[in-house]
Amino acid sequence: MNDAIAAISTGLVPAGIGIVRVSGEDALFVADAVFESPSGRKLQDAKGNTIHYGHIVFGGETLDEVLVTVLRAPHSYTGEDTAEINCHGGIMAVRKVLEAVIKSGARPAEPGEFTKRAYLNGRIDLSQAEAVMDVISSGSEYALKNAMNQLKGDLGKKIDGIRSSLLHELAFIESALDDPEHYSLEGYGETLYPHIEELQKKTEKLLSSFEEGRFIEEGIKTVILGKPNVGKSSLLNRLTGTDKAIVTDIPGTTRDLLEETISMKGFALKIIDTAGLRDSADPIEKIGVERAREKAAEADLILYIADASKGMDEEDREILKMTSGRKAVFLINKIDLPDRRIFTEDVRQEISCPVLEISAKENKGIEQLKETIEEMFFRGELNFNDEVYITNARHKNLLDAAYASLENVKKSIENNMPEDFFSIDIAGAIQSLDAITGGDISEDLADEIFSKFCMGK
Ligand code: GDP
Repeated sequence: MNDAIAAISTGLVPAGIGIVRVSGEDALFVADAVFESPSGRKLQDAKGNTIHYGHIVFGGETLDEVLVTVLRAPHSYTGEDTAEINCHGGIMAVRKVLEAVIKSGARPAEPGEFTKRAYLNGRIDLSQAEAVMDVISSGSEYALKNAMNQLKGDLGKKIDGIRSSLLHELAFIESALDDPEHYSLEGYGETLYPHIEELQKKTEKLLSSFEEGRFIEEGIKTVILGKPNVGKSSLLNRLTGTDKAIVTDIPGTTRDLLEETISMKGFALKIIDTAGLRDSADPIEKIGVERAREKAAEADLILYIADASKGMDEEDREILKMTSGRKAVFLINKIDLPDRRIFTEDVRQEISCPVLEISAKENKGIEQLKETIEEMFFRGELNFNDEVYITNARHKNLLDAAYASLENVKKSIENNMPEDFFSIDIAGAIQSLDAITGGDISEDLADEIFSKFCMGK
């Protein structure tokens, strides 16, 4: 029996509507204890997917005027009978309604408990449940799209494809070992080997999406380097689209802001060490080539700026060396100035990364910069129709484990080991894949995953 749980599912801010969600076998019974409809009709008698007008009355006091959405099992988020009480969105009113529901028999829901029930009731698999959290925390358009694809079950489908192939092989080995008269394992290793390789490739494809997935999910860690006065702060201002990076009159006010996220619509740049950037009196000589090297080392992307009117010197060249083999864009800023002969073709040839001419002042080349970064990190073709990116470290570790198990199967074949060695590792791979979608996870792990959810979800 799933007892009724209740929580405020909307944000605790003054708003147009606030929702108290009650879910469980006796959810409608509990809701009826506080709900009064003008017609006297009970929510327990209502059909699913219907909305009912009335008041929440508790202890003789009318708490709020509400609309209650009734959802019937299994057609609700949790898969259970659910009442969603739509209150006027004041913080007090919503809290009072929750309190009344709890005093009438519901238990306060733990964070993520509604989603946990959806998972336990078989409405969604574990990867979908985790995607719910990603949808909520999405910071960019791509992050949201990817989370939505995972929520649709696209990751689960890919995992299941690999898993069922393995299950098929496992069943064959087990049958043959049980019944050697009817199933022969003669030469089986030779047919199994390429099949395992093929499944490893599929696993690898998912694994290789993790890096892009991380960029989508967490943003691209970016460092802006260049000598004093080349226009680093101006570019930052241009990218953020505000003047907030300008060093204010009060010294030290922007010093504390060490990281800033710039939304590029589809994805985000996380600018590291903006404090150094904002203090235009902090010359690169003071930062030093060493310091620049350190900053560059922890970045996913280096934006190096030079001044079109000044050209390059030894120090620029020194820093440019750091960009070799790294994702970097060389920006020639201030192209609005008349004197810019210095960046001739032969100078450009020294630069191995893309070179763009920009004017932070006149907002020139900024769109190209965005396109270049997108191309560099997402190959410019983030086709989300059937792609799904791994964004969750738990999923990545399990895929790594599955891959390693498959590697062991191949080794056993190479070493002519008995067939039950194949089945041990195939079973190991299946177990790892299962844990992604949640087929076979411990209660502790489920608790840990759902405890990271927010209240009311
Ligand atoms: P930083 O020391 O590298 O952060 O450089 P700033 O962003 O503080 O810019 C130094 C000076 O260059 C300021 O006076 C800016 O107005 C000027 N500046 C920045 N970008 C441009 C540009 O694209 N064109 C021109 N003409 N001046 C610019």
